[in-house]
Amino acid sequence: MGKFSDRDFRYQSDLTDADFETLAVRAGHVRSANGEHSEAIYLTSSYVFNSAAEAAARFSGDEEGNVYSRYTNPTVRTFEERLAALEGGEDCAATASGMAAIYSVVIAHLKAGDSIVVSRNVFGSTNVLFEKFVRKFNIDVRYVDLLDLKAWAEAIDSTTRMLFLESPSNPMSEIADLQALADLAHKHDALLVVDNCFCTPALQQPLKFGADLIIHSATKYIDGQGRCLGGAVVGSKQLIEPVIGVLRSAGPTLSPFNAWVFLKGLETLSLRMKAHSENAMVLARWLQQQSQITKVNYSGLEDHPGHELAKKQQSAFGGVLSFEVKGGQQAAWQLIDGTRMISITANLGDTKTTVTHPASTTHSRLSPEDRARAGIGDGLVRIAVGLESIEDIQKDIALGLAAIG
Ligand SMILES: *Cc1c(COP(=O)(O)O)cnc(C)c1O
Repeated sequence: MGKFSDRDFRYQSDLTDADFETLAVRAGHVRSANGEHSEAIYLTSSYVFNSAAEAAARFSGDEEGNVYSRYTNPTVRTFEERLAALEGGEDCAATASGMAAIYSVVIAHLKAGDSIVVSRNVFGSTNVLFEKFVRKFNIDVRYVDLLDLKAWAEAIDSTTRMLFLESPSNPMSEIADLQALADLAHKHDALLVVDNCFCTPALQQPLKFGADLIIHSATKYIDGQGRCLGGAVVGSKQLIEPVIGVLRSAGPTLSPFNAWVFLKGLETLSLRMKAHSENAMVLARWLQQQSQITKVNYSGLEDHPGHELAKKQQSAFGGVLSFEVKGGQQAAWQLIDGTRMISITANLGDTKTTVTHPASTTHSRLSPEDRARAGIGDGLVRIAVGLESIEDIQKDIALGLAAIG
């Protein structure tokens, strides 16, 4: 019997050696006696016991089983097992959002007096969580450039317990050397935590390169259709256990309905990530040929500084790219306003293509100096390429380009 199995009353299938696509469809499913083919949604807050003695045994932990859905829920557990299988991790803790995943990891693994070294270009709310709240508990937060290995090494001291990054980065598609950073972290007894939201396990499995914990905003590509908020943490049983402790006591757990939506998302994840990546690759090359565009940032392009590393760490380059238009913010806004189909929203990981102006939205909290340092100019436009036909996406951006005065 494999660890990740598709079981019912009729047969037991061993998925131990199953491929990614198979695990994505079947791992973690435990059928009820009703024989449902699709995973059931267990919408229940609590569970009943056959006797007072059984209740006592469940509460004491002598007997395994559900007690309360803040602790365990069968639908949520199926999602956790499936995502753990896809990342190649031992265990997974699902959370109410991507931010709840980051919060739980930090609270579970850091204490007052510790320090964390963070890539400067992390997601905006991650930055706010660290600056406004984590710091309050006397945990020092140090920022470094994602690609500057020397800076990472110099920022670490005896108090450092965690390195935190995203790769590829948003919106410049910079690629971190995961193995080098994992080695550096381990040399100092620290954990490497990777937010794998942009790639998902379909394109990149950071545990294979030595990362210790994986963060997901399931809200993005795992759902893939812009419906539900959720998140997850994946890693060894030993590192996930304290995260589960935080979730049970603090409460930012995933709802069973959202877990079910994400299960359906995982089933098509591999196909979707390939299609997002293919569309993005074609669009990146097309954008390079447009006279009003001076630079395209996409690690799939041969001249991108992270291209070779991306090829080593990822099976494709993902759906997010950015480009710089001549004429600064005015031209960027005219382009965005000139499109007719593409959604103007900072969200990503959706079947629908989205466009945003990082300098005035997602990265507006950074100082102009920090933005310049990160390469985020006023003329920069980010596209999260969806699953519409690439011809229609190009046509829409061409409308935007034509609208630049
Ligand atoms: C969206 C996002 C998050 C936060 O996820 P939520 O589900 O919105 O809480 C964290 N990291 C990255 C890279 C994201 O894009």
